[in-house]
Amino acid sequence: MLIKTVGIVGAGQMGGGIAHVASLTNHKVILQDISLTACEKSLSFISKNMQKSVEKGKIAEIEKNKALQSIQCVTNLEDLRHCDIVIEAATEKWDIKKAIFNDLDRICKSETILASNTSSISINQIAGATRRPEQVIGMHFMNPVPIMVLVEVIRGLSTSDQTYSDVMTLSKTFGKIPLGCNDSPGFVSNRILLPMINEAVYTLAEGVASIESIDGIMKLGMNHPMGPLTLADFIGLDTCLYILNVIHIGMKQDKYRPCPLLEAYVQAGFLGKKTGKGFYDYSTREPQPHYLLERS
Ligand code: NAD
Repeated sequence: MLIKTVGIVGAGQMGGGIAHVASLTNHKVILQDISLTACEKSLSFISKNMQKSVEKGKIAEIEKNKALQSIQCVTNLEDLRHCDIVIEAATEKWDIKKAIFNDLDRICKSETILASNTSSISINQIAGATRRPEQVIGMHFMNPVPIMVLVEVIRGLSTSDQTYSDVMTLSKTFGKIPLGCNDSPGFVSNRILLPMINEAVYTLAEGVASIESIDGIMKLGMNHPMGPLTLADFIGLDTCLYILNVIHIGMKQDKYRPCPLLEAYVQAGFLGKKTGKGFYDYSTREPQPHYLLERS
């Protein structure tokens, strides 16, 4: 199927990033969010990012303008009915996604592919919220979407070969490298990444090292582009906790148990970069370590 119109549900950091790449690769984009403010913020963020690409000579001014004009922001899910594919990138909560997929199945034309950018929720479970499980698939983009080349493409038990092939092709059209895997808690990327982040939080909670040392040791020692606590802030601590809970419950193994300190940061509303504070405080030019408890 030739995909021309891409619907995106959720205009947060991921939905905005997907809209950015889809619009720059000649797709009509309909970006939906329950919050009009989120849509407006997202569009302004996309515009600023594209402007940076123009200044760096990566895209022409005319391409930027054409891409921005191809994005339509809406708050009503019904506006996605004619899309060839809808990529859901709403908050990582099962109840939210279940309701969205239920509604999309009712609203969208019968050929529409329903993809989820979920970090951890089972694609089989999502497919079960629809009457078209063969057209449901995981399309897991990495953050920040305009920069990261991987799309982890997750096949559910019922995903058809046609849906898989259409999504592999679309990912390549977006300029990405798609790699496939089967549905399993955390898929490949987060099943390996999140236990590392969780262990970094346990290391902090046990007073083994400071925030700067944990991040510095992993960054310099392992040649990672950023330390695990910085990365957790970047992903969003609520998202990290949610993913860990899904892997913990799904794998039924204690080694995936989320660290209570991570839960405490989330309960306190320190969700990372998106709220201005997480393991770091982003109110200053250089982010400063942000400890929840007094250090002894
Ligand atoms: P975010 O908190 O930045 O944005 C979520 C958006 O969803 C918000 O704008 C919110 O208003 C909107 N939303 C909530 N309920 C909705 C509904 N019923 N209908 C429409 N919109 C709704 O979250 P994010 O970081 O962009 O994550 C979105 C999805 O992408 C999650 O499933 C997450 O697991 C996944 N993901 C995140 C990352 C990451 O690094 N943050 C990476 C890969 C995948």
